[in-house]
Amino acid sequence: MSTVLVAHGTVRTGRRVLSDGWLLLRDGVVAALGEGPVPPAHRAAADEVVDARGAHVVPGFVDLHCHGGGGDQFGGTGEAALRSARTVAATHRAHGTTTLVASLVSRPVAELRETVAALADLVGDGVLAGVHLEGPWLSPAHRGAHDPALLVDPAAADVEDLLGTAGGVVRVVTIAPELPGGLEAVQRTAGHGAIAAIGHTDADADRARAAVDAGARLATHLFNAMPPVHHRAPGPVVALLEDERVVVELIADGVHLHPLTVAHAARSAGPRRTALVTDAMAAAGSADGDYLLGDLRVEVREGTARLADGGSIAGSTLTLDRAVAFAVRGAGLDLDAALAAVTTVPAALLGRSDRGHLEAGATGGAVLLDERLDLVRVLA
Ligand SMILES: [Zn+2]
Repeated sequence: MSTVLVAHGTVRTGRRVLSDGWLLLRDGVVAALGEGPVPPAHRAAADEVVDARGAHVVPGFVDLHCHGGGGDQFGGTGEAALRSARTVAATHRAHGTTTLVASLVSRPVAELRETVAALADLVGDGVLAGVHLEGPWLSPAHRGAHDPALLVDPAAADVEDLLGTAGGVVRVVTIAPELPGGLEAVQRTAGHGAIAAIGHTDADADRARAAVDAGARLATHLFNAMPPVHHRAPGPVVALLEDERVVVELIADGVHLHPLTVAHAARSAGPRRTALVTDAMAAAGSADGDYLLGDLRVEVREGTARLADGGSIAGSTLTLDRAVAFAVRGAGLDLDAALAAVTTVPAALLGRSDRGHLEAGATGGAVLLDERLDLVRVLA
């Protein structure tokens, strides 16, 4: 057991702001919090006191979409899958993400089943918050960095198979709803209590709306890997931004989206429906070089990841601490809106009422950011 007292910070709980706030964390769980003088009993209970003067004390971050980091990626089978997943989770944890959904790129269904089964242990241990299947039910026309040879239409039996594997480990499934069986796959995903996401899609606005009617609640990296906005053909982007039922993922790394696009989308969706995600690949928290995304070769130069073959953007090298800083300093979002997009919004979508805030009993730990929003420390 380790008990840490964070004192004299600006504690942003997700519901309120405590100036000269304090927070008592017991093994990453909020035991108590308040404003002004710290009760002597709490000070006495602490193994360590952290002076947070000048810092924001915010909830541990929640990333709905992440493929890798620290030189490794989610995927594989057996012990190797566990080892890789631990490396990725530890890398992002060091950057403030304490709730992480493991995204898997398109693979054969039989292999995905094995990966999901292997990762179930880490979901049980709380290292991961679940698995995101990004593929193989994606549009070949908007495949991004997914291997086109692996993309297939969703067969009901495969959808049931993967969602039924290890009971509830799959939390998010990205689906192109215009594929044959696409809307049914959305329905089946929602029926399992998982989050159906619309992405890597060639859908028009009507089809996107139909997918939301069928139960989809998330837009996978809005704008990226879908038709652009046209004033007579608003496409999935406008349909999803306009729909109050949908949370939109934005990759705020300064590469995937222009800062004005981030600002416009975040304002359009509002702070209750915007989620910043990393979509990170193996080079996140690591160096430029040559990496794999699934089996495809990716070159990372100056922090930008592109397929060696064709040059498509192939994930980001983002971590959520930098996403928050970019959203505020680069795109001009209000700090509390940027924080909501990495805490309360994704936590609520995942149904994790214990995460994404700092009220008593919250389990996601805390992150200290300095005045420039650079990460100082992760307490979890
Ligand atoms: Zn993607």
